Amino acid sequence: MTQRRSIIGGNWKMNTDLETGMALASQVADAASINMACDVVIYPPFPSLQAIDSVISNSPATLGAQNFWPEAKGAFTGEVSCEMLKDLCVTSVLVGHSERRHVLHESDALIAKKVEFALNCGFQVVLCLGETLDQREAGKTHSIVLGQLNSGLESVNHDSMQNVVIAYEPVWAIGTGKTASAEDAQTVHRAIREALASRYDDSVASSTRIQYGGSVKPENAKELFACSDIDGALVGGAALSGESFAAIIEAAC
Ligand code: PGA
Repeated sequence: MTQRRSIIGGNWKMNTDLETGMALASQVADAASINMACDVVIYPPFPSLQAIDSVISNSPATLGAQNFWPEAKGAFTGEVSCEMLKDLCVTSVLVGHSERRHVLHESDALIAKKVEFALNCGFQVVLCLGETLDQREAGKTHSIVLGQLNSGLESVNHDSMQNVVIAYEPVWAIGTGKTASAEDAQTVHRAIREALASRYDDSVASSTRIQYGGSVKPENAKELFACSDIDGALVGGAALSGESFAAIIEAAC
């Protein structure tokens, strides 16, 4: 079986200012330097990216962006391109986060386009998937999540999958304090891996990392990471505390 390296992402969303962000980044840099057995990526707000890079650039932690627009350049007021992010040393991007799907109404088609565009730019893409509470209660978890998976990966070939990370984040568990039980999360992660095997092959299925996200905290991280198909976490709220995020990194390494 492929030994997958765990990956812990810290999605800061629209939180932190320059000062608190730099202080937090310094704690992340320390934690990543102590726990070198897993990948650590932080996704600060755009205006802080350059300053945060100067804080983490000598550590194993790497920089990600929460969003971008899938065109090279042009009249897209308020948007940010992949090349602009590359200039700031960004190497990873989030695509399909539930807040962008449900609050900003990004469509499956836009998400697929973003995945393809960012991979062509050389980024690592974290493709986020997840069902709402209504969908879960209607017994549609697998069909929704696997539908989002296949649609998001529509133009992604076998070789490009080495730059894709999947994040399973049940929408009802994001920022609510409710976490899927480790058993429930593992069941969905397994289904995603099986879907990758049928879409690509066993080597893609066994090498693709699948993060869990949704109220991950130091108290539940170990149990989640003990599951055979959970390869780390995408963390929101708990990533805003240096101590909590460090404890989650430690649990994964
Ligand atoms: P949360 O957010 O950890 O605050 O639930 C996770 C995410 O949105 O990626």
